[in-house]
Amino acid sequence: MRLPRREGGSSLTPLSEPPHALIAGAGIGGLTAALALARRGWRITLIERRDGHEDIGAGLQISPNASAILRDLGLLPKLIEASLAPEAVHIHRARDGATLARLPLIDAESRWGAPYLYAHRADLIRVLREAALAEPGVAFHPQTALAGFDQTSHGVTVAALRDAMRVSFSADCLIGADGVRSFVRARNAALQGKADDLPKLAHYVAWRALVPADRVAAALRAPESALWLGAGAHLVHYPLRGGSVINVVAVIDAVWPLDDKADLWSQPGDPAFIATRFARWAAPVRDLVAAAGDWRLWPLVERRTPAHWNNGRIALLGDAAHAMVPFLAQGAAQAIEDAAALAAQLVPGRDVPAALAAYSAARTARAGRVQSESRLQARRYHLRWPASRVRDAALRALGPARLLGRYDWLYGAKTAWNTGMAEANPPI
Ligand SMILES: Cc1cc2nc3c(=O)[nH]c(=O)nc-3n(C[C@H](O)[C@H](O)[C@H](O)COP(=O)(O)OP(=O)(O)OC[C@H]3O[C@@H](n4cnc5c(N)ncnc54)[C@H](O)[C@@H]3O)c2cc1C
Repeated sequence: MRLPRREGGSSLTPLSEPPHALIAGAGIGGLTAALALARRGWRITLIERRDGHEDIGAGLQISPNASAILRDLGLLPKLIEASLAPEAVHIHRARDGATLARLPLIDAESRWGAPYLYAHRADLIRVLREAALAEPGVAFHPQTALAGFDQTSHGVTVAALRDAMRVSFSADCLIGADGVRSFVRARNAALQGKADDLPKLAHYVAWRALVPADRVAAALRAPESALWLGAGAHLVHYPLRGGSVINVVAVIDAVWPLDDKADLWSQPGDPAFIATRFARWAAPVRDLVAAAGDWRLWPLVERRTPAHWNNGRIALLGDAAHAMVPFLAQGAAQAIEDAAALAAQLVPGRDVPAALAAYSAARTARAGRVQSESRLQARRYHLRWPASRVRDAALRALGPARLLGRYDWLYGAKTAWNTGMAEANPPI
């Protein structure tokens, strides 16, 4: 069937005009890239298949390596209004609640150069969207799904669907920030004559819930995150939105059939199943699980981090490039790092394919390391007896100072996202 056609974009950019990037996907990665590039003088067409205003998701930890970039973009004051700076991470043994370690985060900013924050994903998206759309160079096209693209030595042409109508755009480059089931990644592989490697099930299922704070005891409302380690599962909780709700994430070893069509947020979880799964854990966990009525399931998937994220004028960003298991809470943080690195390389006037190659070179090792460390962390968190005893003894023996030191490579705002970048990190 031929779709009716209407024109949605410009023709190829004349030399005198600012360079023009088409970004597919207005998630955390796409919005950050749109804002950072617009601040560098790029004209941006940002397309998003949803309407872009849904309250999708739950709590997100925004670690200092990401909050440093959001601060450079001038977003921190608004973000801080909508988030909580935790005092500590409290690690418990799930069976009896014994403390294994308590890591203070009060000094996060002086240690790592930027604050550690907890926010609702929808609040971070709102802050990013408002800032990006306030830039005169950014044109946002909601409910517009990328459906095809091609490139020449001069630019890219992009086809998208809006209200069953075909719209087309031309730009100097295409950035695929379209998430774990990236169309850009799949089509780019096809353009190169390769098979798409497809998302891979990680054999964990995350159960997420937002519990009204007035339903739980005061100890569960403390301004810190609690991490409970059990056999084949762990559970994290922390307060959000001014302490009015408690964000709960329970991750359980489980095999899940991979259904590409599943809308990940539409799958309700059975409260009876999770109550039974945690029935032998310490009382605070059982109480929290009982207080949470509406559970949502998220089967965790990964994407292999490719050696190159660029192909001429096309590049990947965020989950599309490196979807990872969330055991280091870094997927969004890495997408934010990608966006900053992209903007640092795509200096107006520079050869676009060369800039995208430099962006890819600057990011693959770091994101790949974060992805594999996240996988290792998953194994450590879910150890069974007797290995769990060794882990617990090590956590106690190391103590807070040395445990915090193990995250310096990741959170250190000065040493992390900018590794390998050619420019002297000019402010965005
Ligand atoms: C249980 C869990 C907990 C997590 N906790 C944390 C945490 O604490 N901290 C952290 O940093 N990360 C965390 N993450 C990871 C984080 O949520 C993701 O890594 C991050 O949201 C990825 O952002 P993105 O912009 O790359 O992709 P997405 O957020 O998936 O955005 C992609 C966008 O592209 C759009 N799109 C898709 N296809 C098309 C198309 N064809 N045309 C147009 N638009 C399209 C989508 O609608 C979407 O808006 C967690 C993940 C899970 C599962």
